[in-house]
Amino acid sequence: MLIQGGLVYTNGAFVKRDIEIEGGVIRSLGTGLEGNDVFDARGFVIVPGFVNAHTHLSMSLLRGAGDDMPLHSWLNDRIWPLEASLSYDDCYWGSLFGIVEMLKTGTTCFNDMYFHMDATTRAVRETGIRAAITHAVIDLGDEKKAQTELQESSRIHRMCRDEKRISYMMGPHAPYTCSEAFLLQIKEYARAHGIKTHIHLSETRKEVEDMEQERSVTPVGYLDSLSFLDEDTICAHGVHLTPEDIKLISSRGCSIVHCPQSNLKLSSGIAPLPQLLDAPIDIALGTDGAASNNSLNMIQETKCMALIHKLQGATEVPASTAFSIATRGGGKALGLPVGELTPGYNADMVFIDASHFSMRPSHSLISNLVYSLQEEAIRHVMVDGTFVLRDRELTMVDETSIIEKACEHANALVELIE
Ligand SMILES: [Zn+2]
Repeated sequence: MLIQGGLVYTNGAFVKRDIEIEGGVIRSLGTGLEGNDVFDARGFVIVPGFVNAHTHLSMSLLRGAGDDMPLHSWLNDRIWPLEASLSYDDCYWGSLFGIVEMLKTGTTCFNDMYFHMDATTRAVRETGIRAAITHAVIDLGDEKKAQTELQESSRIHRMCRDEKRISYMMGPHAPYTCSEAFLLQIKEYARAHGIKTHIHLSETRKEVEDMEQERSVTPVGYLDSLSFLDEDTICAHGVHLTPEDIKLISSRGCSIVHCPQSNLKLSSGIAPLPQLLDAPIDIALGTDGAASNNSLNMIQETKCMALIHKLQGATEVPASTAFSIATRGGGKALGLPVGELTPGYNADMVFIDASHFSMRPSHSLISNLVYSLQEEAIRHVMVDGTFVLRDRELTMVDETSIIEKACEHANALVELIE
C-alpha cells in the first residue's frame, strides 16, 4: 500500500512524503513513489498514533462512579468493591468501550493492566488496535493467591504468544499490595521469559510514608533492594521521588509512565517531569483508567502534561518534547516498534485534516498538535497498515451498539453497591 502526498511528521520535522507499507510495516518514505494500492493523503498531516502507556481499560465502565475523592478512599470505598463483582462480559464491553474512545482520539496502542484479560484480548482482536496487556496481580501476603495469580499470568502470557498485535507483561499492582516473595517470583518469571514488568510506583505521599515507616526505605529503594528494577521495568506514576530515587531509576534504566491528569484528579501530586527528563529517564505518557481521569483521550493528556510543568518555567516540556513522550516515548517503554513514522516501524498512524480550524494557521504544526488539536480533526486512523477508523467511523466494530451494551453493564455494576 502507498500513502501518497501527505505531510508526514518524521524525525522531528513535517515533510511531504509518500509512505510505502508492506505487511503492516513501513517499508520506505520517499517522494514520487509508485504503487498499485494508493491512498491519496493530500490535505492530511500524518503523525504516529499516540501510545497510552498506562491504563485500565475496563474501568471506563466506572467513569463518574467515584469522583472528587483521594486515591486511598477512592480505591477502598468505591473502586475495589465494584471491581470485586466484575465479570468477563463486563470487561469485554468495558474494553470495547474504551477502545472506541482511544481510536477516535488518535491512540493506536495502549498498555493495559487489569482483570479478565481474555476479554480485553478479544476486544483488541475485534477492533484492530494494538496493545500490551498485563494481568494485574495482588497477593496481600496470601501465598495461595500468589500461586494462583502467577498461573493465571502464565496462562495469558502463553495465549498472547501467537498474537500479532498483542504483547504481554507481568503486572504486580504495587509494592504495597504485593508481598516481597511474590514480587521476586514475578520478576524471576519476567526475566526467564524476556518480558517486561508493569507496576504502580510512588503514586501518593501516603504510599511513600507507609513504606518508610514499615521498612525505613522509599518504595523505589525497596524495589531496588530486591533487584527488581531494570530496563524492562515500567513504573507508572513516579510522583513522589527523592533525588536518590531518581538517580536509582535512571541508573537501572527503568521507564516511568507519567499520568498527569489522574495524579491531579486524585490529588496525588505532580511528577517532577523536568527532573526526570534531565536524569535522564525514559518517559512515556498514560491516562490511567477512565475512573480516575475521566477519559482516555491522549490529546488532552498531552496538553495537560505540556502545561502543568510550565509552573516551573515557560520553557519546560515544549510541544515537541510533549508529543515525543506521548508517541515514541511510549513505544520505547513498551519495547515495540511504534510511535515513529520511519522504516521498520509498524504502520500505526493518524491522518489529521490539515484544514481543520484547530490545525490552522500553520505557524507551528507541532504546537497545533499539542495545544489546539481537536479530535474531530482526526479523520482516519491506521493500525498495522489497516484503516481502523475511516472518516471518523470505526471500520471493524459498531460504535453505537458498543456504547449501549457497555452502559448496560456499567449501570448493573454500580447498582450493586448503591
Ligand atoms: Zn493505574
